[in-house]
Amino acid sequence: MSDKKTIAVLPGDGIGPEVTAQAVRVIEQVNGVFGLSCTIETQPVGGAAYELHGHPLPPSTLDLARSADAILLGAVGGPQWESIDRQLRPEKALLGLRSELELFSNLRPALLFPELADASTLKPEVVSGLDIMIVRELTGGIYFGGPRAIEGEKGSRKGYNTMVYSEAEIQRIGHSAFQMAMQRDRRLCSVDKANVLEVSELWREVMIDLGKSYPEVELSHMYIDNACMQLVRAPKQFDVMVTTNMFGDILSDAASMLTGSIGMLPSASLDSRGKGMYEPVHGSAPDIAGQGKANPLATILSVAMMMRSTFGNEPCAAAIEAAVKATLADGFRTGDIAADGQAIVTTEEMGTAVVDRVSKS
Ligand code: NAD
Repeated sequence: MSDKKTIAVLPGDGIGPEVTAQAVRVIEQVNGVFGLSCTIETQPVGGAAYELHGHPLPPSTLDLARSADAILLGAVGGPQWESIDRQLRPEKALLGLRSELELFSNLRPALLFPELADASTLKPEVVSGLDIMIVRELTGGIYFGGPRAIEGEKGSRKGYNTMVYSEAEIQRIGHSAFQMAMQRDRRLCSVDKANVLEVSELWREVMIDLGKSYPEVELSHMYIDNACMQLVRAPKQFDVMVTTNMFGDILSDAASMLTGSIGMLPSASLDSRGKGMYEPVHGSAPDIAGQGKANPLATILSVAMMMRSTFGNEPCAAAIEAAVKATLADGFRTGDIAADGQAIVTTEEMGTAVVDRVSKS
């Protein structure tokens, strides 16, 4: 990768600016080590943008996100914005970015670093060696479907949403998932609720049809309730899982606990050309914001995903992941992944440890 690339950095709220600052240091380091020309441009998003511009996704932020080659986002949200008009809440910025940029394919790896086998609440033998990829549909389903409303008089109001998927939407995410399975262990589990929901019935039918184009991939199906249970009971049975927007939201948070901490999980949201927004799975963690307690590794690992999926630079992605692994092996722990009695480092110290270990090996 020798040509110039622009990375839009949208730090957001709470711990967002703290964790993205460390990820930016890693980008600067790989720029030097690998001779890349990644330029960073920053704009506010979420609550921070609302305070500055009166909107969580102002045009200047959306323009930068559109023109950049890739986007790195921290997190948005916080209690101070929970009671403002729903359309102006920080979380609207995420939905806006996903739909405006057509980032329909959300990749959420749940990978357990052996060094953290004890940090999971599950027994080490259940989770050691865990390596799952959850492919979540991100721009459709119940989070976007209409009609949706709360209506009526207080005391007799009704609230409703609509879960809707077209065949084209299911095929698009299905192809992403089958292609991901082809790059891995060639096992794909499609998660739905086809015993109850018509939309899931269609989902399953389309996945089965698509599977005929990927004969090397072993396709299975599971209901969402069973999938949640199996994820906690025997998570290593899964390779790639594909599911809808809401089911994926829930599954991936459950998967995060298998790996010890939500502070370890990166994610990528891609469009059909491979442009992507990269962000940690966690939120803005207002309870620890501004205290140097946040684990920056999920955001740093999101940069590795960016190098691999958008910039096609596998050596650089591998170098960042190796640096994170070495940092953990050398005993660096933020509070969320520390065992009892283990020394705890700050967000910045963790970032420094990773930066020091990035090398072109
Ligand atoms: P959260 O992920 O922010 O926090 C859940 C728990 O995990 C907290 O105890 C927090 O301290 C801890 N945690 C999260 N990230 C961590 C990290 N990097 N290092 C150490 N500990 C970490 O979820 P929440 O508390 O449900 O939500 C807080 C705010 O974040 C809300 O406003 C919510 O809407 C928003 N949110 C944003 C996103 C996003 O921007 N993608 C995602 C989820 C939640």
